[in-house]
Amino acid sequence: MSDLDLPLYKNFANPANYGKKRALSDIKWIVLHYTGNDGDTDTGNGKYFAREAVGASAHYFVDEDSATQSVPDEYIAWHCQTPGMTLKCGCRNSNSLGVEMCSDYVDGKCVITEKTKQNAAKLVKWLMDKYNVPTERVVRHFDVCGKECPEPWVRNEKEWLDFKRLIKKEGVNMEELKKLEAEFEKLKKEFENRREKVYTKFDEIPEWGKATVEKLIRYEYLYGDGENLNISYDLLRMLVLNDRAGLYGG
Ligand SMILES: [Zn+2]
Repeated sequence: MSDLDLPLYKNFANPANYGKKRALSDIKWIVLHYTGNDGDTDTGNGKYFAREAVGASAHYFVDEDSATQSVPDEYIAWHCQTPGMTLKCGCRNSNSLGVEMCSDYVDGKCVITEKTKQNAAKLVKWLMDKYNVPTERVVRHFDVCGKECPEPWVRNEKEWLDFKRLIKKEGVNMEELKKLEAEFEKLKKEFENRREKVYTKFDEIPEWGKATVEKLIRYEYLYGDGENLNISYDLLRMLVLNDRAGLYGG
């Protein structure tokens, strides 16, 4: 697994903010959130959730220069099952990791800055790798229960699609790979057949060898009427090379 190219601090939350232990193999989803604050930081959030008992939590907070882990992965954080809202997919607190992005306000509107977005992508890719979570199971809080979170990515779907593009796996398309393998096998067989090929008739000689063979028959180095030549591919190649080197004259 690749290393996380982002400083990651640990500041575990007040135990009143999160749930029970689970198996790491339970982790199947990653949920993106936003804090909705103006200019907050991952470390600031880490401190707040460590100190206060608020009955809510997320595993990670991320900002423009670092990330803070607030709940250990093997514990259930209370982040995406918003009470009173209908669940829209299979994602639950119990089977997911919650990632909160710090936010800012510009001209009265909440934004996730480009740097924070890039860092969130780094963190999420690292977690996807660690727990084998596919791109399809990286979702917004909005996709879990309809809550407008992260609001800038619900208001502007394009931002969300950009993020999805950032975390897309540069993996191998297995179908494409199988096609290439079949193509390679075919070429290999063709090549082997060609190497074992023995030309008996003049008509069977490939174009690149015809002039040479014709010349050798004419000089009576090769005998007959062109019916029993018995020239292998390798021999033909050698004869043509010799011809090109001028060994048989013009
Ligand atoms: Zn949320």
